[in-house]
Amino acid sequence: MDKLDILVVEDEPDILELLRHVLEKDGHMVRTAETGEEALQKLRMATPQLLLLDLMLPGMDGLELCRRVRQNPDTRDLPVIMLTARGEENDVVAGLNLGADDYITKPFSPRVLMARLQAVIRRRHEEKTPAVELEVMRRGPLTLHRGRREVLVDGQLLGLTWSEFQILALLAARPGWVFTRYQIVDAVRGEDYDVTERAVDVHMVGLRRKLGIHGQLLETVRGVGYRFQDTEF
Ligand code: CA
Repeated sequence: MDKLDILVVEDEPDILELLRHVLEKDGHMVRTAETGEEALQKLRMATPQLLLLDLMLPGMDGLELCRRVRQNPDTRDLPVIMLTARGEENDVVAGLNLGADDYITKPFSPRVLMARLQAVIRRRHEEKTPAVELEVMRRGPLTLHRGRREVLVDGQLLGLTWSEFQILALLAARPGWVFTRYQIVDAVRGEDYDVTERAVDVHMVGLRRKLGIHGQLLETVRGVGYRFQDTEF
């Protein structure tokens, strides 16, 4: 992977040093900030290629910082990974809805950190290339034809509603990527009727049932949302 210029925002010195050590060992260039205000200052000096952001900060919290990062044209597309403690699922949902790319729950292993980091960078790269928008997506036993709005499972055509297809295509385009209900509603809303966050749960039940033994490809991330299983098929 390319060596990245990373800004780490974390107020706990031990965790900050651990992050610096792990990231620098992998060859990345690390800048640090201990508050949201300091982070904004450093962002103004130079835009990094990735922001690792603790949510619980003194003063301006991580969510507010994330909001400002997304509002500023200079940092709107900056990949953001949130660092969270267990039990902060509401903040994770809020952060993802604000446009954060992913999150890591503390304590985490260096291996998990590097894997998430690589995944976010890879996905960002894929977004710039047309591969994700391919007419035909193959995910293990599933084949999705966007234009025809058809899904084949092991070669058999699956009868999905418009909303079910939209949800499945959204999740399958980014395996391993967690989507909040709000993000799913936002991506799917429009054509036939209003989809609510509660309706997303109902659609997921329907999708899993129709997918049969492959229903497990759609994973529930407790307290956060849903994702398509990230498996090497
Ligand atoms: Ca903290």
